[in-house]
Amino acid sequence: MTEWTIEGTILTGTEFEPVEGRLVIEDNRITSIEETTVSSSTIVAPAFINAHTHIGDSIAKEAGLELSLEALVAPPDGLKHRLLAEAEPSTLVGAMRRSLRFMELEGIGACYDFREGGIEGVERLREAADGLTIDANAFGRGDAGVIAYADGYGASGAADERFASQRLAARGADKPFGIHAGEVDSGDINPALDLDPDFLVHMVHAEEIHLERVEDAQIPVVCCPRSNLVTDVGLPPVEALAARTSVALGTDNVMINNPSMLREMEFTSKLFDVTPKEVLAMATTNAASMLDRPDGYLAAGRPARMVLIDGDSDNLSGYVDPVSAIVRRACRTDIEEVILSPIEPED
Ligand SMILES: [Zn+2]
Repeated sequence: MTEWTIEGTILTGTEFEPVEGRLVIEDNRITSIEETTVSSSTIVAPAFINAHTHIGDSIAKEAGLELSLEALVAPPDGLKHRLLAEAEPSTLVGAMRRSLRFMELEGIGACYDFREGGIEGVERLREAADGLTIDANAFGRGDAGVIAYADGYGASGAADERFASQRLAARGADKPFGIHAGEVDSGDINPALDLDPDFLVHMVHAEEIHLERVEDAQIPVVCCPRSNLVTDVGLPPVEALAARTSVALGTDNVMINNPSMLREMEFTSKLFDVTPKEVLAMATTNAASMLDRPDGYLAAGRPARMVLIDGDSDNLSGYVDPVSAIVRRACRTDIEEVILSPIEPED
């Protein structure tokens, strides 16, 4: 048994209550958080969870910025899908691996990728993640058969096909089913909700009827504000969604944004009328409960998965509130260490 400790200002529990003191880790788990005076200026936060990515398009960063959303990413003929089809498998795997490594260094402990390319696409993500500590989850596409290989099903959108068999198969396999909805307009939101998904992605064009349905069924929503800015589809009603259901954050296509949750949190905090604490929850606890994860917050018994941030860096020195400092200001150079202990099977 190896026991070790981390000292600093620890953001504890689901409310991120700052506690000055010591966090004790034993066998990949937090065993206690002890309040005491320490000299460390480190801020200890839960590792972030990127709840929606497409890292396959790491091969085409900033490509097609002049194109409409449809011409850029709509299957099967959008630029992204043509580039994915043309790419050598080794090039694709290598590019995805670099995005995963980038996410690890940015304090991200898990990502949920809507992986294109069916079973083969899922296997390529596994290959890209081999040996890394980030928990890279592949949500498969294509027919229902992909679900046996994937961590869940990631549907492109209810305007593309019905997805009834995939929905059923995901439920049968006890794996999550997520679907894009309301990105360009509201037309695909009701059919997506009819599938009773485990979560929705985007919801930029959610109207009152959709908000009511989301609230009634308590379906979480992953918002991707930076992606929506780039593709010019409008901005999601984050405040209204957060008032009705649980909201998580994702960085969406690597093609159009780097997969940094620090940046996504900063944009979200500055674009919408939500508190820094609510935004940190979107990047940690909300995503963890949506995706049935045991991490996402720091407490005794939880897996030791956290990011250590230098509260006395040139960037953060003199901060007033540690949560605001992380959500609104911190950047990669402030990160001292990322600890991603493996999640034990019994968690
Ligand atoms: Zn997406």
